[in-house]
Amino acid sequence: MTTSLKLLPTHAKALETCAYCPKLCRTACPVSNADRRETLTPWGKMSATWLAARGTVPLSRDVAAVAWACTGCLACRDSCDHENPVAATLLEARVLYRELGLAPQEVQDVRARFDARRARAREVLRALRELPGVESGARTVLALGSEQLVAPHGVSADIVRVAVGLSGPVRLLEACCGLPLLLAGDRPGFEAEQAHVERELEGADALLAAEPSCARALAKFAPEMLLARAHRNLGQFGRVSRLADVKLRWHDPCHLGRGLRLFDEPRALLARALGRQPEEFSRARERGECSGGGGLLPLTAKETSAEIADSRLRDHDALGGGTVVTACASSLRRFRQNGADAVDLHSILAESLASAR
Ligand code: SF4
Ligand code: SF4
Repeated sequence: MTTSLKLLPTHAKALETCAYCPKLCRTACPVSNADRRETLTPWGKMSATWLAARGTVPLSRDVAAVAWACTGCLACRDSCDHENPVAATLLEARVLYRELGLAPQEVQDVRARFDARRARAREVLRALRELPGVESGARTVLALGSEQLVAPHGVSADIVRVAVGLSGPVRLLEACCGLPLLLAGDRPGFEAEQAHVERELEGADALLAAEPSCARALAKFAPEMLLARAHRNLGQFGRVSRLADVKLRWHDPCHLGRGLRLFDEPRALLARALGRQPEEFSRARERGECSGGGGLLPLTAKETSAEIADSRLRDHDALGGGTVVTACASSLRRFRQNGADAVDLHSILAESLASAR
């Protein structure tokens, strides 16, 4: 019977760096800020994983659950002098725990959830194929996140309009990056989805990605973020007059900002549409705070995830409220579930692009 997590051969350095650290990033973690348990700080999660890898603590569902108490926001990495890869290490631990049958109950049925969402996403894709500029033979491929595809209020159609407006005809990627499976610890499932993406991209010249976390998961296919392309074509965007008196506050999605280092670009695009700079949260850019929607936290720790979003929204209200703008579908859903007026940046950009024509 396995008595230790087989993580030391590949991740000993990262685990030991945290285990011997005086918890310098402890205030950075949205999870332990919302659920104040020492084991949920980045140090606590890595130390528990290190003990599990050394065989010092018995492997159990409780120990495994710690690896799922992470949104993958990268805030600890950016607060760490060693830039220690906490999220990536915990992700690897999830894979090993799943193989041992110790993944949390809430993510056991991820395959069924994934397939159900894919079925809904396929229906949306079918409708999107009718939009002008979507062509099956186009050599530019547009990847929408599955969360974007099932989001209400036509977010996916707005994304397609922006992509076509900037790049001409696009083909829609019919495959998913597989990230939800990997977050549940299902690496074989993730790799099968990535192989599907590879087949879909045969003959393509360029891959545009609309969802920051998908773009990172698709890194080996060298995607370009649609927002980065939009920023390179800033002159094509015009003022949206209906937003003249609307207070809009930009929320940095973790994977767009800390993940892909796109901080200035969304602000410049919003400023172009508004004719002024957007409002900011108290902590923004590199220090921007997570919405609580990532890493499957809404499944594994529902209340903690909601408290993280509430904390962002208390800050938003204290600063004068208004509408939250983001470019991450999980954040959009999380903020809306918590009662906020929230909008996807691509929806504003679709209007902004049309107003300039
Ligand atoms: S991520 Fe860095 S700062 Fe945080 S506990 Fe680990 S080593 Fe320390
Ligand atoms: S990546 Fe974010 S949620 Fe995960 S441990 Fe680090 S700070 Fe906490």
